[in-house]
Amino acid sequence: MNAIINFTKALKATKDIFRFHGGVHPPERKSKSTQLPISQLALPEKLVLPLRQHVGNIPKIKVTIGDHVLKGQLIAEAEGTISAAIHAPTSGMISAIEDATIPHPSGLPDRCITITPDGKDTWTILKPLDWRNTDRQDLVASIRLSGVVGLGGATFPTHIKLRANGKSDVHTLVINAAECEPYITCDDMLMRERSDQIVKGIEIAQYLLSANTIIIGIEDNKRESIAAMRAATADKNIQVKVVPTLYPSGDARRLVHLILGQEIPHDKRSTQVGIQVFNVATVLALYRYFEFGEPSISRIVSMTGNVVSPRNFEVLFGTPITDLVKAAGDAKPNTSHFIMGGPMMGFQLPSEHVPITKAANCIIAASPTQFEDPPPAMPCIRCARCADACPVSLQPQELYWFTKSDNFEKAHDYNLFDCIECGACSYVCPSNIPLVQYYRYGKSEIIAADKAQEAADIARERNEFRLARIEREKQVRAQKHAARAQGTKATAEKTPTNAKQAAIAAAVARAKAQKEAATAEGAAPLNVKPTSKHVKAEMAEIDARRTSVNLTTTKTEQKPAIDQAKQDKINAAIARAKAKKAAADAAKNDIENE
Ligand code: SF4
Ligand code: SF4
Repeated sequence: MNAIINFTKALKATKDIFRFHGGVHPPERKSKSTQLPISQLALPEKLVLPLRQHVGNIPKIKVTIGDHVLKGQLIAEAEGTISAAIHAPTSGMISAIEDATIPHPSGLPDRCITITPDGKDTWTILKPLDWRNTDRQDLVASIRLSGVVGLGGATFPTHIKLRANGKSDVHTLVINAAECEPYITCDDMLMRERSDQIVKGIEIAQYLLSANTIIIGIEDNKRESIAAMRAATADKNIQVKVVPTLYPSGDARRLVHLILGQEIPHDKRSTQVGIQVFNVATVLALYRYFEFGEPSISRIVSMTGNVVSPRNFEVLFGTPITDLVKAAGDAKPNTSHFIMGGPMMGFQLPSEHVPITKAANCIIAASPTQFEDPPPAMPCIRCARCADACPVSLQPQELYWFTKSDNFEKAHDYNLFDCIECGACSYVCPSNIPLVQYYRYGKSEIIAADKAQEAADIARERNEFRLARIEREKQVRAQKHAARAQGTKATAEKTPTNAKQAAIAAAVARAKAQKEAATAEGAAPLNVKPTSKHVKAEMAEIDARRTSVNLTTTKTEQKPAIDQAKQDKINAAIARAKAKKAAADAAKNDIENE
């Protein structure tokens, strides 16, 4: 009810402002950290830079331990389409590349690059860009090297949000300066102190997107900022719209609804309806990159809560939170823990020894008096207050029942993934049910199940592909066999029968001739009585053959099988000749004796 009353009051003070469903108005607690100007934090003893500081792929490390780096030097380059580079926040030595605890609710370690500063803070060679006279596509490609990401907390790489254009359908650029969450004041202080630079950054973004309409949306609890931005945009085609202080008006879709009256369909991105949204700190980082060539190495952080002197600091990425706490006069003795972000969407840090990253807009030192332990959760009484407060018009109590009973399919059907985890439902729940934790649990279970299903689908597809390949190879082999068999048959059919018969006849004739020749060469007919003349002639012939055989044997020793056959023939011929001679001698003796 309070929220509705506040909103109605706010509407009276603002024109052309539309209303979104639900919302809450928790105590703002912003004034404590806006009493002092932004202060520059001193160089820490070491800077620990997690590689995982943005949405998307972790960047690829470009340095090794022992390297000396200069301020602004690239130490990890963007890897893949959605990724962001990381640069050295000061000059010094790379002293470690190892896993260390990062600012994440899990408290788990992750890969970090540690720099030990040399104290000189020496810049690398910077290359400012004349953005008005450079091709848009080149400018966007260059932003990929800048490491600039959404500094409102989303940490989406900025070059992706600007990439579409040149041929863009974006007609409206919305600058998100609502900063709706309690305690956080970094954007407020930035607008108070650096409104001119913000406006120059807005002009760059407008140029890159070719947007016609530019609107800055600021909550009405930031009077100094509204005045500063109005003064900075007085001669520009930029509107400043004041929106009521109502959480979560800083959500991009809620802000678009508030200032344009346009609801972005839940299944579409804002660019699909011609609207792009940037945070004020992000456009300022764009300006510093183009104007001075400075990559993203620092940000403004609110250090507030239970510290002696709450204020905003400009902090180098990688600075330990302990340094920030000390610079704010230290935490008071009853500090129980530290929160990164606001009390609605932030999370309790695993330790204050973790570093500041690109997502860290606020650190709250929490005490039991400021952040009481929630009373035990009671059963849901179906009061529907959560549904009244939900800015996305969901049914939080239904989502709670479904996720509690692991009925994730139903939770999905009830648009669980449209939940922006703003915590407005938990905030109003009289039963103190930690509703957002249930939604996070449900989302993580559904995502895990989807991933497992995806892996199973890939494995199944691979197996089907393998079976198809085996079958294909089998068919190819069968076709080859069939073709070979067909070819043999055809050759056989092509050979004429008479040619075959002629070949057989020729072979038979050759065999016959050889046999006859052997017979002729063998023994003489037994009825012929050889004379001494015949015998002498035959002996002479045998001697001549023997000589010839000996010569041949000497020359062709490499063919022993042939030589042996010849030798056998010679031996047989000699034996026959000797027998003939003995017979002839006997006959001669017989004649002389007669
Ligand atoms: S506000 Fe809490 S008790 Fe009421 S319906 Fe929602 S979950 Fe149930
Ligand atoms: S946390 Fe989700 S369900 Fe709850 S109010 Fe916010 S958007 Fe609605």
